[in-house]
Amino acid sequence: MLRMSDVDLAGKRVLVREDFNVPMKDGAITDDTRLRAALPTLRAALEAGAGVLVMSHLGRPKEGVVEASASLAPVAEALSRLLDRSVTFAPNWLDGVDCAPGTITLCENTRFLVGEKADDEALAKRMAALCDVFVNDAFATAHRAQASTHAVAKFAPVACAGPLLMAEVDALQRALDKPRRPLVAIVGGAKVSTKLDLLETLVTKVDQLVVGGGIANTFLKAAGHEIGQSLCEDEMLDIAKRLIDGDADIPIATDVVCGKRFDENEAGVVKAVGEVAPDDMIMDLGPDSVDQLCAVIEGAGTVVWNGPLGVFEFPSFAAGTEKLARAIAAADAFSIAGGGDTLAAIAKFGVANGISYISTAGGAFLEFLEGKTLPAIAVLEARASGG
Ligand code: AMP
Repeated sequence: MLRMSDVDLAGKRVLVREDFNVPMKDGAITDDTRLRAALPTLRAALEAGAGVLVMSHLGRPKEGVVEASASLAPVAEALSRLLDRSVTFAPNWLDGVDCAPGTITLCENTRFLVGEKADDEALAKRMAALCDVFVNDAFATAHRAQASTHAVAKFAPVACAGPLLMAEVDALQRALDKPRRPLVAIVGGAKVSTKLDLLETLVTKVDQLVVGGGIANTFLKAAGHEIGQSLCEDEMLDIAKRLIDGDADIPIATDVVCGKRFDENEAGVVKAVGEVAPDDMIMDLGPDSVDQLCAVIEGAGTVVWNGPLGVFEFPSFAAGTEKLARAIAAADAFSIAGGGDTLAAIAKFGVANGISYISTAGGAFLEFLEGKTLPAIAVLEARASGG
């Protein structure tokens, strides 16, 4: 991909796609992390002498309808404060906006436009006509082929990747393409079925694949163990067996933490795997197994983590996930972590500083790990190679 830092932006009209899909309550932004993350990109473009137009989606409004609750107007205000300069808000922008060098304008929600979701080329051409250079800086939407993330890059005179998007791709490639070995992946969470592609891809790349949470229960059962009333997907047992019998090393837990009820106040009882009773629910990895896992992480060159090891929302079943999070943060390995509940666990245990790269990109992060082609990246690669 061509990088924004390699393009001369002086005097150019630069259209930047950011992910400003911030959480809002009663018209106020409740978390501005995504805005702050984009500031270096926007400042760099302005300092290079560009006139900057920014576009983003917000929420899931119906196309063709302008919903006040999904307007980006509050984001323009917040951005003005954070950048300490005036950010013009453009409710109607497709027919052209003033874009003088040194100015910055935020365009209204791309999802108000008919054709955005369908990756409509006529719409994308109108977006592309607004600029000399298109910059995609929104990794979190890179798995979606939409007019403002994908087709616009086909028609803009120049199309390149912004620094935020590049940082994410660089971190993911560092972990997956030429990892310092051993490469260890930990995949936890509720269900095998929602992470099947992830498991099947990682198993071909990693030296060790550690499964946790409800996923581990299915593997325990596949290995012939009693798991009582634990969360398990019987229809995934054959797949789990196949993965266990494959070339990759997938360790099976030796001890677990059980309760009788799925309840916040339930006490946890540590049991060897062979002692699980028919009325038990396994809700966390046991301390011996966690210690073994932590030792593996200590010796790892690269660690990829998605999903909790247990029901970490309940105090009695949080220890496995907490120890894992601390071990990853303390390790010398290059570590990347991401995906909804993983971010919640990282925040809960306050270990963000120790993790080399935390992805907030959700679906795009998982699809990248699954080895899928992300359309918004593929189009930038095609443009860079003359396509
Ligand atoms: P996911 O969204 O697939 O990453 O799943 C995360 C959810 O899985 C969390 O809310 C956990 O509470 C839940 N979870 C993890 N381990 C277990 C388990 N052993 N039994 C039931 N739920 C679990």
